Amino acid sequence: DLEVAIKVVVVGNGAVGKSSMIRRYCKGVYTQDYKKTIGVDFLEREIEVDDDNVRLMVWDTAGQEEFDSITKAYYRGAQVCVLAFSTTDKDSFDAIERWKNKVEAECGAIVMVVVQNKIDLIDESAVSAEDVEALTKRLKLHLFRTSVKENFNIDEVFLYLSRKFLSQ
Ligand code: GDP
Ligand code: MG
Repeated sequence: DLEVAIKVVVVGNGAVGKSSMIRRYCKGVYTQDYKKTIGVDFLEREIEVDDDNVRLMVWDTAGQEEFDSITKAYYRGAQVCVLAFSTTDKDSFDAIERWKNKVEAECGAIVMVVVQNKIDLIDESAVSAEDVEALTKRLKLHLFRTSVKENFNIDEVFLYLSRKFLSQ
């Protein structure tokens, strides 16, 4: 029975749903027009993973979505990472590999996962399933399709990351 604290960073282009995902996961709430509270670096949630107690500290980027505007402090000590894009935003999908490279440059080869958010908007999709699968296969990363809005597959992302971290 371990007690483990894990720093999670969530990166991706603006408006893909990162802040919403963190709030949904850690606070259980969703709002369409949420504005981030200035000064809050991360939210926390404790979960049980098999027999271990895991405290996830999930860091938000304070709306700085440019690669170089995110501070070193944001990445420092990060152990796992969510690479997020939106179903309705092709640019955000095209940026995933650059985000991965950025995180690896700052943190090394930490545990990562790709999240395709806003899957509730699949009818307005800007990316094909084939392209998404080809990318995640090439990057050798697991893909989760999520909807923060519908609370679909969010817990699974963080459980997967925790398990993967604990098993390495
Ligand atoms: P961030 O810039 O990546 O932090 O994105 P936000 O969390 O601020 O979300 C941007 C917008 O997308 C907000 O209006 C959210 O309510 C909306 N949003 C987030 N997740 C979803 C989702 O799963 N489905 C839909 N339809 N909208 C979402
Ligand atoms: Mg945000």
